[in-house]
Amino acid sequence: MAIDSNRRQVLQGALAAASLFSTRAFGGEPRLWDVVVVGGGLAGLNAAMLLEAQGLKVQVVEASDRVGGRLRTGRQGDYQAELGGSEVGPGYGRIRDMVERLGVGLHTNGGKTLPFALGFNGELLQPDAWASSPHNMTHGAERGIAPYLIQNRLFFDRVPFTDPGDWLAAANLQYDVSAAEYLRAQGVSEAAIRLCDIDVNAPNMAAVSALSIFRDLVRIKVEGFTDPTKPQYGANASLTRAYIKGGSDMLPRAMAATLKQPVRLNAPVVAIEQTDREVETRLADGTRLRSRFLVMAAPFSAVRRIRFLPGLPPVQDNAIQGALYSATTQFHFRIKKPYWESDGLNGSLYTDARFERAFVNAAGAGPHGTLTVWMNGDGATRLDGMPLEVQKDYVIAEMVKLRPAMADALDYVFGYSWERNPFVGGNKHVFGAGQIRSFAADMGKPAGRIHFAGEHLRKLEAGMESAMETGEVAAFEILDRV
Ligand SMILES: Cc1cc2nc3c(=O)[nH]c(=O)nc-3n(C[C@H](O)[C@H](O)[C@H](O)COP(=O)(O)OP(=O)(O)OC[C@H]3O[C@@H](n4cnc5c(N)ncnc54)[C@H](O)[C@@H]3O)c2cc1C
Repeated sequence: MAIDSNRRQVLQGALAAASLFSTRAFGGEPRLWDVVVVGGGLAGLNAAMLLEAQGLKVQVVEASDRVGGRLRTGRQGDYQAELGGSEVGPGYGRIRDMVERLGVGLHTNGGKTLPFALGFNGELLQPDAWASSPHNMTHGAERGIAPYLIQNRLFFDRVPFTDPGDWLAAANLQYDVSAAEYLRAQGVSEAAIRLCDIDVNAPNMAAVSALSIFRDLVRIKVEGFTDPTKPQYGANASLTRAYIKGGSDMLPRAMAATLKQPVRLNAPVVAIEQTDREVETRLADGTRLRSRFLVMAAPFSAVRRIRFLPGLPPVQDNAIQGALYSATTQFHFRIKKPYWESDGLNGSLYTDARFERAFVNAAGAGPHGTLTVWMNGDGATRLDGMPLEVQKDYVIAEMVKLRPAMADALDYVFGYSWERNPFVGGNKHVFGAGQIRSFAADMGKPAGRIHFAGEHLRKLEAGMESAMETGEVAAFEILDRV
């Protein structure tokens, strides 16, 4: 990090003063940390690395038994799959730099998935039969758009701005309305809006802001996504993306290993009290950590469970209490028999059934490849009331009911629900209709000695890169104050 010499001197003075009042308690830990970072995901780890590099005494506290948060690699024997973030975009400068600095490495072999067969109203059909199918209730030109492309297509053709930094501009706040309402006003049919609900990465089309969708689309257009006849994300996307060697979780693990003070695991924060001099962080086991500053790098869905004394300013409180997260649940299987050869249909499935989507990677680590069921938004929430094992049995039964050739074709490996993880609560933060206007610009501002980070505060970047970006912003804000 470049710091000019004046600022370095100021910093050194501040650190000397800090160490005077950071007298050590028993066990060799400072009684007063310079910074406590809540959350050992990419945002928290990046903030901690930057702050430690400037000589500050930093303690990361992580609620779960591992670092990485939404980077989570599932492993069982020769089967390895990403349960969370995987794709590293071409413009992910911070991620690419960190991967290189820590010697982690990237690869570009993301694999391809087989094309979709469609399953609507309990019937299977090939995509070329969709336009004339009685199950296709869309109107006019919409009829020719495959269900797995329609959400993307309807927004791509209407993107109202081109600079990813413009989503907060006053002129674009007119799009901060329900995505369903926005499309309806454009003459899009109700049936097409319902189809968008299958894969929209948000609770549903009625809840999410159209501007939230445009923001993400503009960001990936900059990365070169120009062909809405191809999926936006995933193995068959038109853009080449990279993947972290050995699994996505290798990066946060390598980042945590660089920290002088090890991450404190299994340490959920339950309350934070601040005065004008310091912050006290209370852990579930009763431990109290004192610090001069705090970086809150947990998702708002989890921050909601933390008690703040005094309470946070109304704008932040509203943003935290009202935060919308898109649920995601995945189930992974080895394929024992190539069921698509027996019924002659495409291997992957895109459906209006409860399991929504199933992706076949024929080159995956099963006798005939792998199958991943992927539910998003309300689709995942609908089943999240059931324990994961029960969900899995239900999903298998539903798949076989729709596609009898799948009976005895799958060996279950593992599954994961992000919504059922109380410390994450979903796959990503989205804005509900009207929320961008209400609090997007201000919700990440420091509240006293508490600074905020995490992908929910993204301004320009997306996904993993936004976590890095916001961790960096929080670290710089604190360095400016010490
Ligand atoms: C299914 C899925 C697919 C994705 N695909 C991609 C992709 O392909 N490309 C991409 O760039 N991004 C992708 N993402 C998004 C990306 O993984 C995230 O944006 C990023 O990892 C978020 O990092 P973060 O540090 O902001 O939050 P997190 O990773 O959520 O970290 C927050 C941490 O805070 C901890 N925490 C919460 N509450 C407390 C508490 N009270 N006390 C202490 N600790 C607490 C949590 O346990 C967690 O470890 C995907 C995510 C998911 C789930």
